[in-house]
Amino acid sequence: MLNVNKKLVLKVIKMLSVKEAQEKILNLALNINIKKVPVSDSLGLILAEDIISEDNIPAYDNSAMDGYAVKAQDTSGADKDHPVELNLSEEELSAGKVPIENLKPGFAMPIMTGAPLPQGCNCVVMKENTQKEGRKILIFKECAIGENIRYKGEDIKKGDKVLKKNRLIYPGDIGVMASIGKSKVLVFYPPLIGIITTGNELLEINRKLSQGKVRDSNSYSLAAQIKEVGALYRKYGIVKDDREILKKKIIQALDECDILLLTGGVSVGEYDFVKEVLGSIGAQLIFWGVNQKPGKPLAFLTYKDKFIFGLPGNPVSVMVCFEMYVRPLIRKMMGQNMLFRNSIYAKASHNFEHKEGRTDFTRVIIEKKDDRYFFKSTGMQGSGILTSMSEADGIAVFPEDKADIKTGDILQIYLIKKFSSSSQ
Ligand code: AMP
Ligand code: MG
Repeated sequence: MLNVNKKLVLKVIKMLSVKEAQEKILNLALNINIKKVPVSDSLGLILAEDIISEDNIPAYDNSAMDGYAVKAQDTSGADKDHPVELNLSEEELSAGKVPIENLKPGFAMPIMTGAPLPQGCNCVVMKENTQKEGRKILIFKECAIGENIRYKGEDIKKGDKVLKKNRLIYPGDIGVMASIGKSKVLVFYPPLIGIITTGNELLEINRKLSQGKVRDSNSYSLAAQIKEVGALYRKYGIVKDDREILKKKIIQALDECDILLLTGGVSVGEYDFVKEVLGSIGAQLIFWGVNQKPGKPLAFLTYKDKFIFGLPGNPVSVMVCFEMYVRPLIRKMMGQNMLFRNSIYAKASHNFEHKEGRTDFTRVIIEKKDDRYFFKSTGMQGSGILTSMSEADGIAVFPEDKADIKTGDILQIYLIKKFSSSSQ
């Protein structure tokens, strides 16, 4: 058993405003994890290098159509009623084949899409504008120099910077990198985030509820939020409110992860040991308590180069604190520059009660009427009403310096879903 008094090194410090708490987190120096990954695993990550092509793409002049490689001058005057007649070459050019013969004047050489052009050819007649008659080819349309030819390097030139460092990688970028033979690519690698849920009352997902027990939903909501932001997670299970077990799990998780999320046990209850145990292993308390609802007892600590969030146990507080504090930090570690969710300004559809002097994060439904956005409450706003998170399109910020919200007041709403007025 630990000596509680001796280990009680964490002091309660002044409650911060939301902005102060966010600044404390986001202003800390970060260990950015830059790693080489297979190009197929780089989707949605931020590029950590400039991508320069060592090849011309295409690498050679080639045909954009199935048809005949010809000399433009040999097709002059051809039209539907006056076709030009050319001789069929012996050689046929399919994709992947290297031409052996030069194209002779008065000849048409069959060529498929992507096949390299033979010497002497300066245009390709589409098959649709030709007719084969024995060893003769009738051309029904004049062909201009360069028609249906894809020139060497017309997409990418050798030495071109095709993608710039710090950009978000989209599917098209992956295709481009594959085309220039970039099999591995440097990216801002997503942090690994450990999840520990604490509480003697917690049950695994497949257990039947009984008096005094609740299923552990927090580890599921958090895992989903981490997945949504594109980071990695590792669950360390449900831990009883027991200092020794908690300490062991915390040490293991801090050894393995970049960020540790704990839920429950950070308030002022008799069994709220999280901060105390973190203090006993030498974690530095950056803050405890934010002037907000939900999520007032939020604790943030550092341990060596790791970050620790002591999230309150209430399921809504957990998710809202993740949105407002954990998610921006993860995005920063992933090299993103937009750290916060997109937000809109919308009008209140009804009055809301709000205590001045504290920030409230109210879960709201957004409606669009005549090009204007309106928001209404999801209903009960208790920190245990988890359905408020599943119903919400966004989180409205009721600012510290404002009392009750009146119909028509305009507030900032962080969008937590891909909102569109026609959705659902
Ligand atoms: P605590 O912060 O530990 O006092 O917990 C606050 C409330 O959140 C209590 O009603 C807990 O039962 C509930 N709670 C704590 N952890 C979880 C969890 N992992 N999943 C769902 N509810 C939880
Ligand atoms: Mg608890």
